[in-house]
Amino acid sequence: MEKSVCEIPVQENKPAQKLAARRYDSQNTIVDVDGIRFGDKELVIIAGPCAVESQEQLFTTAKQVAGSGANILRGGAFKPRTSPYSFRGLEEEGLELLAKARTLTGLPVITEVMDTRYVKTVSQYADILQIGSRNMNNYPLLKEAGLSKMPVLLKRGMNATIDELLWAAEYILSHGNEKVILCERGIRTYETAYRNTLDLNAVPMLRHLTHLPVIVDPSHGTGIRWMVSDMAKAAIAAGADGLMMEVHHDPEAALCDGSQSLFPEDFEKLMQDLQLLAPAVGRKMHAPHTALV
Ligand code: PEP
Ligand code: MN
Repeated sequence: MEKSVCEIPVQENKPAQKLAARRYDSQNTIVDVDGIRFGDKELVIIAGPCAVESQEQLFTTAKQVAGSGANILRGGAFKPRTSPYSFRGLEEEGLELLAKARTLTGLPVITEVMDTRYVKTVSQYADILQIGSRNMNNYPLLKEAGLSKMPVLLKRGMNATIDELLWAAEYILSHGNEKVILCERGIRTYETAYRNTLDLNAVPMLRHLTHLPVIVDPSHGTGIRWMVSDMAKAAIAAGADGLMMEVHHDPEAALCDGSQSLFPEDFEKLMQDLQLLAPAVGRKMHAPHTALV
């Protein structure tokens, strides 16, 4: 008998990814970064400034987010900026500051690598390589990230479909690196009321299609500070394995993305709300970090 339309799997006629597809591994993949496990029951919360601006800025913000229970510290040393005249990061000096902030807080660090020439250098300082939205389909960079064997956070291209995101992950996986974490960070739509449209449909769909951990970045997903905490909670309710958020000790003075950066007090409040929300959706928050300031 012929199948009715609603029984036909969505991707029946498309070639599916070999390694990223759920059917390759029916268990969820867990990516372990120094004991912080993406894809496990405990939610992973990444927080920190958009860009590393100075030692004072990074250390102040790092201590604040660590004190509120963040699990991983973020901060860009190489910044992809629309205008070449904007602040584009402290580069290697920024990487050195991140490594010092790791010693200070005990938190692993994540930072973006934009260029194949820097994969080795960034890997020497960071615990996780971030591949940004603009580079999701930079195939040479995906290949080098695969060869590096470092944990990789792969952000969805702002114009990419779910299928294209999974093919990008496939590049990293097929170069021998199974430590891939996916990140929904909002896509371009006709809507201009916010910076991007945070596509939370992606969370259950990705969890259906792939065994890889999925986190959400509501900072770039909205571009608006007062929306970030609500969308962070919505992402967890939708089944995300964690969050990545921008926090700055003085957002008004930030050199990059200040208007979407949380004040440390907003972040503290969000972490308290997540303590209540997590058990309602079968998740847990990590116990507070003991090595703390
Ligand atoms: C970032 O997280 O620092 C960033 C630049 O985000 P995206 O690549 O999603 O724009
Ligand atoms: Mn940013």
